Amino acid sequence: MAWEGVIKTYFDYLPVSEKTPIITLKEGNTPLVPADRLARHINKGLKIFLKYEGLNPTGSFKDRGMTMAISKAIEEGSCAVMCASTGNTSASAAAYSARSGLKCFVLIPHKSIALGKLSQALIHGADVLAVQGNFDDTLKVVRYITSNYPVTLVNSINPNRIEGQKTGAFEIVDVLGKAPDYHAIPVGNAGNITAYWKGYREYHEAGKISSLPRMIGFQAAGSAPIVLGKVVEDPKTIATAIKIGNPASWESAEAAARDSGGMIQMVTDEEIIEAYKILAQTEGVFVEPASAASVAGVIKYAKESYFDDSKGKTVVCVLTGHGLKDPDRAIQTVGNPEVIENDPMKVVERLGLKK
Ligand SMILES: *Cc1c(COP(=O)(O)O)cnc(C)c1O
Repeated sequence: MAWEGVIKTYFDYLPVSEKTPIITLKEGNTPLVPADRLARHINKGLKIFLKYEGLNPTGSFKDRGMTMAISKAIEEGSCAVMCASTGNTSASAAAYSARSGLKCFVLIPHKSIALGKLSQALIHGADVLAVQGNFDDTLKVVRYITSNYPVTLVNSINPNRIEGQKTGAFEIVDVLGKAPDYHAIPVGNAGNITAYWKGYREYHEAGKISSLPRMIGFQAAGSAPIVLGKVVEDPKTIATAIKIGNPASWESAEAAARDSGGMIQMVTDEEIIEAYKILAQTEGVFVEPASAASVAGVIKYAKESYFDDSKGKTVVCVLTGHGLKDPDRAIQTVGNPEVIENDPMKVVERLGLKK
């Protein structure tokens, strides 16, 4: 049967009714890709799977939450939505708004969002403003406006976003037939770790799984407020999607790590780029830098003996967004191609080919 999107598929687990107008781009149903070469590289006998969320309609997991947020906004009679965004929320909000006829206002931090994401918000017709400040400043403006004007907030502080995003956990279980032992995930505003943990707990309560994963979240070292235990005023990282100094879902992220027996830790930009290259060059999976934080964390903590008693255990790494979102970073990482004369023998010579 054709895939119907996350709301129809998980209807009974979501706060929707027959009256909810479902706005969907058939998001979800993303592949859970086995990563055997990565597992061999890590060399702890782990079974690693990549939840490739970059294959959602707008190229990130945000679509799972946005189908819910936009459908509910329409059900509630809203005419306009607004978000602050490091890029992917705006891409998704703009696309689902275009599809539904809602007006979409997007505030982004000036000069801090990846090119692909900016192009998406713009081409889908959102009203985009670049605020002279960082993401946290921008979210404050959006909170003020959406509390005082008739505009629906569609950041992950909107509970419908979390509801939609928890379907990622359902899909993982539906494919594995059980919960993974570890669930590794990048942490920015911390909505997604909150959502996955909620999803796993709901499946547990429904009797679909008999165990729960340890939630292991990773922030970028230059923007790791939860790890450091304090707001980071001027967050810095090349992983723009997690460049957030004061996460909105801080407490529920800490609760997910604590209650699951997991942890929230940080990885450096160098470790993120290393994982980004390993994914692209040994698994054939292209993600944006923030997504690679989950894998960077697993590699790093494997080296620090975290998985030493976990031979044969299952690890799912969520890869939150597609690599094409940030093509500049890919090219900066590996360099532009060499230019060569239009001459077959010159090419043969350069490639070192022998008959
Ligand atoms: C939004 C986003 C994140 C961070 O998710 P949070 O829910 O804010 O923690 C990570 N990676 C990508 C690609 C994102 O778009």
